[in-house]
Formats: sequence, structure tokens, C-alpha cells
Amino acid sequence: MIDSIASLSLKCQNCGAPLNIAQQMERITCGYCGSEQIIQRSGAEVSLKIVGDAIAKVQFGVDKSASELAIKRLQAKLQSDTAEWQRCRNQATVAAGIRGFPHAAACCSGVVGLVLYQINSRIFSILGLITMIVSAAAFVYFDIVSGAEKAKKLEIMDENFKFKAEDIQDQLNHHERIVAKR
Ligand SMILES: [Zn+2]
Repeated sequence: MIDSIASLSLKCQNCGAPLNIAQQMERITCGYCGSEQIIQRSGAEVSLKIVGDAIAKVQFGVDKSASELAIKRLQAKLQSDTAEWQRCRNQATVAAGIRGFPHAAACCSGVVGLVLYQINSRIFSILGLITMIVSAAAFVYFDIVSGAEKAKKLEIMDENFKFKAEDIQDQLNHHERIVAKR
């Protein structure tokens, strides 16, 4: 997340793949189609320009072996992105499962209430009972809050992955069309 501030994502001028441009970079070779591009900067604006002439652009469209390589690369990427998404999802589920400080505090005050309740005095017993009820209510409340947080986190994760997977699938389809042509 932090390096997205330092780097910038632009589309490859040849195939449209997303390319991450680091701050000091002057040139980049697209990992999808292999075309080399110059990074042009004017003020805050950053753009890409393909090195060489239009012939390279035409060649890309019909280069079957380049597309075959790209398909392998994209399939591997889709697979590793899927695995990463699953891993993050599991992690978020585990993290949400560990009750945080509010839960621990509610448990502690519940125990305090139980201790008070045991004291052989009407006032302390009532006080203990109230403390236990309030603690239980707090525990349930925090449980609902953390549950909602988890659901939101997972939703964002799924959405991001969906976008990424669709983007890769678009590129895969493009290359598969080229391979199927001949
Ligand atoms: Zn490209």
C-alpha cells in the first residue's frame, strides 16, 4: 500500500497492461508484451511512449510465440494472485476471530462482577449482577462490531481481487485470440 504513493500505475501503450512506474525510472519494459517504453515527465504529468516505430506495434498483434509466453505468465500470475487473495482472506478471518481489547475488558469486568456477586452482601450481589449483565452486553456488542468490520474488510478484498482477476482475464483473452489466429 505504501509504495503505491511512491510509484504510479500507467497502462502499457502497446497492450494496455498495468505498469508500475517507480519515481526514478526512465524506461520500462512491459512484462506482458515485452515492448520497451520511455517514461516522459512534464511537471506532475507522467506518460509512456513506445520506443521504436509503429512496426513493433504491428508485430505485437501477430506474434504468436510472444502471446504463448504471455499466456503462461498471465496464468501463473492469476494463480498466484488467487492464492494471495485466499491467504489474505484467511488472515482477516483469523484476525477477526481473535477478540481484541474490548472483548478482553468485557471478560475482565464480567469476572469482577462474578466476584462481587459471591460476596455475602445484598448490595454487592446486586452490583455484581449488574456488572455481569453490562459486561455480557458489551461483549456481544463488540462481537457485532468486529463482525461488521470483518465483513467490510472481506468485501473490499474480494472487490479488489475481482478487478485484478478480470484485468488479467482480459489480457489472457486477448493473447488467446492471437494464438488461435494461426
Ligand atoms: Zn504491454
